[in-house]
Amino acid sequence: MTKDMKIPKSHPRYTSLKTRQLLEKGVRDGITSLNGLIAHGRGEAFDYLLGEKTHKFAREAIDAGAALLVLAKRPVISVNGNTAVLVPHELVHLSKLLNAPLEVNLFHTSEERLRMIKSYLEKFGAMNALLPSKKCKIAHLNSPRKYINPEGIYKADVVFVPLEDGDRTEALVKNGKKVITVDLNPLSRTAQRATVTIVDNVVRAMPLLIEEIKKQKRRKINDNDNATSEFKNFEYLKRAEKILRKL
Ligand code: ATP
Ligand code: MG
Repeated sequence: MTKDMKIPKSHPRYTSLKTRQLLEKGVRDGITSLNGLIAHGRGEAFDYLLGEKTHKFAREAIDAGAALLVLAKRPVISVNGNTAVLVPHELVHLSKLLNAPLEVNLFHTSEERLRMIKSYLEKFGAMNALLPSKKCKIAHLNSPRKYINPEGIYKADVVFVPLEDGDRTEALVKNGKKVITVDLNPLSRTAQRATVTIVDNVVRAMPLLIEEIKKQKRRKINDNDNATSEFKNFEYLKRAEKILRKL
């Protein structure tokens, strides 16, 4: 698709094409990596099988994830090159709502791309965007993604990591963090290792998560709220898998 192509709103695959266009531009602007396009393709395949809609199980995970974030002492939102271009407004909104920093962390990392994503988020109004520091790292991870910010993920009790990699999710959990992810593949290691997995497209899930957090804040939920304690990620992923396999 060329950068000038206007997708007619009436096109049956409008949202999907629009999303691809955002990622394509993300690559041209140096925000998204080429590998990010491949990762998106894997996500799209699952979305197709799920009927490109938010299922009831995803709503339940959104409720549980929202409660974890609202009750967190030090929540942090991890951002990569795909989420930055797909949901920049929502990331900034969430950061302000939770008073949580946005921390850029990339699989295919470079100093330049890290800085570009930070300033991209700032263009959308981010007030607290952090970069990893070579002086601070998490245990149980060997890739460059081990580097974290001492004021961000290092101190976090709950980390929101949409579209994450399995190794890093596992390492964050081993480091004692609660991890909430958004992943269309209920079978991925990320989905299986996270504390709460929202099996939905990040483009649909983010606005719903923000609305749910606003509701819970208005209700002033506390630690006795059982939205998270009753949530069993394993069982929930099985429900998503059953739909995919048409069982
Ligand atoms: P894992 O490392 O967790 O085993 P993977 O190696 O299969 O997963 P990655 O390339 O590390 O996959 O990460 C991409 C993941 O993000 C995939 O599981 C894919 O389904 C998911 N994904 C991609 N685009 C979206 C999207 N827009 N919304 C939600 N999930 C997405
Ligand atoms: Mg992976």
